[in-house]
Amino acid sequence: MTTPHDGPLPVISLEDLGLTYPGPPPVTALHPLELRIEKGEFVIVVGPSGSGKSSLLNVLGLLDNPTRGVYRLNGVDTSTVDDTRRAALRGREIGFVFQAFHLLPHRTAQENVELAMVYQRIPRRIRRQRAAAVLARVGLADRAHAMPTQLSGGQRQRVAIARALVAEPALLLCDEPTGNLDSETAASILDLLDRLHAEGMTILVITHDRHVAERGRRTLTIRDGVLSESARAHVAAP
Ligand code: ADP
Ligand code: MG
Repeated sequence: MTTPHDGPLPVISLEDLGLTYPGPPPVTALHPLELRIEKGEFVIVVGPSGSGKSSLLNVLGLLDNPTRGVYRLNGVDTSTVDDTRRAALRGREIGFVFQAFHLLPHRTAQENVELAMVYQRIPRRIRRQRAAAVLARVGLADRAHAMPTQLSGGQRQRVAIARALVAEPALLLCDEPTGNLDSETAASILDLLDRLHAEGMTILVITHDRHVAERGRRTLTIRDGVLSESARAHVAAP
């Protein structure tokens, strides 16, 4: 499936995309918007509570369908794929990181990461190697066999990031990734995201926290469902 384009395909392309919850009464959570995110970008979307951040993340993460417009993920028009292929596309292309780390409590860090590969036809031995390698990448080589309760909040979020990365997704989607962390630990998680970005990862972070927003290479603001490019993004561009 190909689409006309100039140069490399953007990871995300939204055209006239909107989302209205049917209600009653209907709520327009996303007013029609255009957005392109290129491979390797680090984008932060900032907005107050109720502005449409989770709605946007759910659409981008293929967890919800827009009610108008087109969402292309790596060139694939996501409205044309059935539920089975959508789930496969989600599993292959998107890594999720949430505020609440969502680790399985009775599994080690390593097992939590391995479980992210359980639906792929990857032999157990390879799964183990990959999980160990990605835990090392997030700085947790020495904590691989710890249970979540034996880890700090920052370490738990690193496990969650490792789990999101292990299938080598095209896009890392993070919803308030530092929301449960003190400011020092939050900074170390943002440093980790910076490093993953430097390694070529495409990252989108959603936050209500202005301090987090200041770390973005490109910052978008969402207010009452209207997405706009922030002025400082042009100043901060490399
Ligand atoms: P944020 O994540 O920025 O707090 P949301 O995307 O959760 O904002 O919500 C945006 C708007 O859509 C809000 O007005 C919210 O009340 C509304 N909303 C969210 N989910 C639903 C839903 N399932 N049905 C109806 N309205 C919803
Ligand atoms: Mg939200």
